Amino acid sequence: MAAPIIRIDNITKRYGPLTVLDGLSMEVLPGEKLALIGPSGSGKTTILRILMTLETISGGHIEVEGDQLYHMPKNGSLVPADDRHLQRMREKIGMVFQHFNLFPHKCVLDNVTLAPMLTKGVAKAAAEKRAMELLDMVGLADKAKNMPAQLSGGQKQRVAIARALALSPKIMLFDEVTSALDPELVEEVLNVMRKLAAETDMTMLLVTHEMGFAHDFADRILFFDRGKIVEEGKPDEIFRNPRQERTQTFLRKII
Ligand code: ADP
Repeated sequence: MAAPIIRIDNITKRYGPLTVLDGLSMEVLPGEKLALIGPSGSGKTTILRILMTLETISGGHIEVEGDQLYHMPKNGSLVPADDRHLQRMREKIGMVFQHFNLFPHKCVLDNVTLAPMLTKGVAKAAAEKRAMELLDMVGLADKAKNMPAQLSGGQKQRVAIARALALSPKIMLFDEVTSALDPELVEEVLNVMRKLAAETDMTMLLVTHEMGFAHDFADRILFFDRGKIVEEGKPDEIFRNPRQERTQTFLRKII
């Protein structure tokens, strides 16, 4: 079996007195599609933010492709070693957020080209060529010169996906990417994710409340509760035959 692309070992995350992740361990195989489900506040978003190095951790180890994501204890937190290390690790992982976070004063094309030009020194023409391919992939090539304010929520989210892909990450993190959308716009975003899954071998982790999508899309479901993974398994196992009472209660409430 392939070595895990992500190895999370016994991590703890605290905000003051609040323990948000409590000795959490998990592994992700290359190309795997994982759905993280569970009650609000159980730590699902936090784990994605930690992988994206948007947060520090209070203890434990994380390896991405065998490299430690956090080390060198400082002020009791484990922090990325240095800027170059951080930069290299960040290029492996892309993230799409619930609220798009597009640059509002940049057109769609610039939103997608900015990071490759600034962080990787890609020339403008090459960055634009790649951006147009990605915008075509998400069905928005004709909106390249539009400003974000001129787009629907679903279109903004598809631009955000193209923007994250522009750095060619091996791992993509999707944090409730359809939660802020009107119901009729959800499907166009899910379709882009289905296409990505079908056409690439990217590793994908998603936090979602779309249980139908999680069932059809994911290879494996992780059920979070109170900072721990309470249960994991194949979608059919988790949705049809959950073993843990907490999983059963959660699923009964929302399905
Ligand atoms: P989920 O994604 O499962 O809804 P989160 O990972 O967003 O859960 O949050 C887990 C817990 O951490 C929640 O209780 C939340 O209030 C808390 N939390 C998240 N970010 C912060 C922060 N910056 N400061 C303090 N508490 C936070």
